[in-house]
Amino acid sequence: MFWQKELETLNRSRLEALQLKRLRETAARVYGKVPYYRKLFKNNGVTPAHLKALQDISKLPFTTRDDLQKNYPDKLLTIKHHDTMRLHTSSGTTGKPKAVFFTRQDIDVAANNIARCLTMTGVTKKDVLQNMMSYGLFTGGLMMHYGAEKVGALVIPSAIGNTERQLMLMEDFGTTSIHLTPSYALYLSDVLEKKGREFRKKLKLKRAYMGAEPYTEETKNKIEKLLQVKVYNSYGLTEMNGPGVAFECEFQAGMHLWEDSYIMEIVDPKTGKQLPDGESGELILTTLTREGMPIIRYRTRDLTAILPGKCKCGRTHRRITRIKGRADDMFILRGVNIYPQQIERVLMSVAHVEKNYQIYLDANDKMTVKVEITKKLFDGDLDKLKKLQLDLTERLRAEILIRPNIELVEPGTLPVSEGKAKRVFDNRKIY
Ligand code: ADP
Ligand code: ZN
Repeated sequence: MFWQKELETLNRSRLEALQLKRLRETAARVYGKVPYYRKLFKNNGVTPAHLKALQDISKLPFTTRDDLQKNYPDKLLTIKHHDTMRLHTSSGTTGKPKAVFFTRQDIDVAANNIARCLTMTGVTKKDVLQNMMSYGLFTGGLMMHYGAEKVGALVIPSAIGNTERQLMLMEDFGTTSIHLTPSYALYLSDVLEKKGREFRKKLKLKRAYMGAEPYTEETKNKIEKLLQVKVYNSYGLTEMNGPGVAFECEFQAGMHLWEDSYIMEIVDPKTGKQLPDGESGELILTTLTREGMPIIRYRTRDLTAILPGKCKCGRTHRRITRIKGRADDMFILRGVNIYPQQIERVLMSVAHVEKNYQIYLDANDKMTVKVEITKKLFDGDLDKLKKLQLDLTERLRAEILIRPNIELVEPGTLPVSEGKAKRVFDNRKIY
């Protein structure tokens, strides 16, 4: 199903012409109205007039997270304060957050992109969407809410937490779709499991939209099984409106990124050089429809690749692969670059492993992975436990080339976060 069939299936040359037109407008807008951008453009020897073709975007300077923080709270606005309607900030845990302002039109565009996303996975006005994301400064709550309302679905703004109540709402109001983080989905599935099979049968739940933090294909499969739903990957970030930037369609084969709202590039995170389709690198996004606070060539720090080829659904907006992690999540242990997702992938593919894990790095450069296992195995035979421990050690060693200590723990012992999950505890730093 399409929300805006013509725009979603626009042929590539027309889509690219639209992108170029919007890119020029956006560049002219920030150059004319934002002193910071004007100076940055000048320092790089470019003006909006240099943008003759789409490829010329590479002449423009990047905008980094630091740049947003430097311009906090409102120095990147292209409009007067009283013309803004909403403020969101990123959930960043260190320093000043990144503040993003929206005009009425900006909110409308963001909601419209989400409406496309929900519609392509089958949501209609007959659906009931329970939004289990925190409402507040975080875009995951409010923006998704507006998008689902646009489609006309009944939206239950349940926010995150209070899991018993979530299940009650799901039962009483016939929730068909939920929006949540993977870590909360794992927690929810735990509580649901305890309620028993009969309870699950009473629910009308069909789909889960999962995003806001990286997760592996293995975790997705696990959640699909536990919740008995289809899980659709949903990618977004506050700086780019929040949810609805890229989303899986009914074929669940990569996420369509709405190219009439963003220009995407993949670059080598070290050199900043553009990479061809199919190669993994850092995703760079330029807003094309932002009125209040356009952002040029934003370095998302998120690692992904553009999937070559067409999608069976007929949409022409290109797809990106599952986010492999953030450039900042990577840690280096004894000279080896490691992403938490590599460890998650191995853990989640092994039987008897439960849902939660943590990675500890200690001062002697040792890695310990604490992982929850099934109650049955935990209480059972010691030999079997040892076997699992050895199996996990070997599989991880094969993946990350380092032999970790494996600590098997009882299910429910590791803390569950209501926000974004913290997986890596690096105790190597000496202050
Ligand atoms: P913060 O950067 O402070 O966490 P946001 O709440 O805006 O602020 O989070 C956006 C980030 O969340 C993205 O840059 C990305 O790293 C991560 N993210 C969002 N959706 C997904 C997804 N589907 N898969 C992987 N990571 C995601
Ligand atoms: Zn598709």
